[in-house]
Amino acid sequence: MDVVKHKKTGQIYSAYQVQNMSEEKQLELKGLIICRECGKDAWFRKKSVDGKEPCFSAKHDIDCNLKKSNTSSNKKENRVSQNKREADTNDIGILFKDYFSNASLAGDDNEESDVFGKTGDSKNIYDKDPTKTVQKTWTLKRILDCAINNNLDKQGFSLEIDNKIIPLEKMVSSWDGVTKQQNGVQGFFWGYLQSSDNEIWLNSDKKYPYNSFSIKLNEQVKKRFWLSMGKIKGNWKNGVPAIVFGELKWVQSGKIYVEINDLTRLYINRRVYKSNSN
Ligand SMILES: [Zn+2]
Repeated sequence: MDVVKHKKTGQIYSAYQVQNMSEEKQLELKGLIICRECGKDAWFRKKSVDGKEPCFSAKHDIDCNLKKSNTSSNKKENRVSQNKREADTNDIGILFKDYFSNASLAGDDNEESDVFGKTGDSKNIYDKDPTKTVQKTWTLKRILDCAINNNLDKQGFSLEIDNKIIPLEKMVSSWDGVTKQQNGVQGFFWGYLQSSDNEIWLNSDKKYPYNSFSIKLNEQVKKRFWLSMGKIKGNWKNGVPAIVFGELKWVQSGKIYVEINDLTRLYINRRVYKSNSN
């Protein structure tokens, strides 16, 4: 799993945050971190020479949502020797996944390693020198998780966009806090959706989208969006976490929005969306 909770302070730590800590700091956390869902003891696993990303392990409760089956059962003899791989922990790319295609309908909450494919299904063994540096990629879901946990700035990551290296946290804004100066700026905008007209607007407000942020679905994508998500009547009681990548538009009337013409630029927490529909 990617995040754990501190037993005493309740603080949330991500695996990359711990990876980038001094060994001393890492030791201080030993025995004090737990699964944030079931509360069972957890421990940190460094990124490994065969390219697995840093993560946390725990002996979860049987019904814990963060429990994951162990699939790394390939025998070493059958594997193909490859150069060692190392994730570049400072410079990341973005993997724009389509969360609205049929293939991804099941289990968008079980997303794991994005760079190296599914853990454990590789026949390769990474034991040759020199080590190859592999750029790590993050999905919108992962950025949203970090933004919600308010620890983006602690990740120490930068993104390369238009030949410029920009710290990740500078690219990600809460849509409740955007300013007019951001008009025309491209970036990630996240927050909680509260309502929709079931047509083109997904709104951060419970009423029709004036003076507040909305996501606008354009003609090319709206049909597939509603087919995938299902329409919901009325307001979404508890809000639905979502993130969008695009250009912020702040029009004369006061309307603020990002228009989507590619569904890979949008992630919505499907589980929360569904639970809001009851
Ligand atoms: Zn657990």
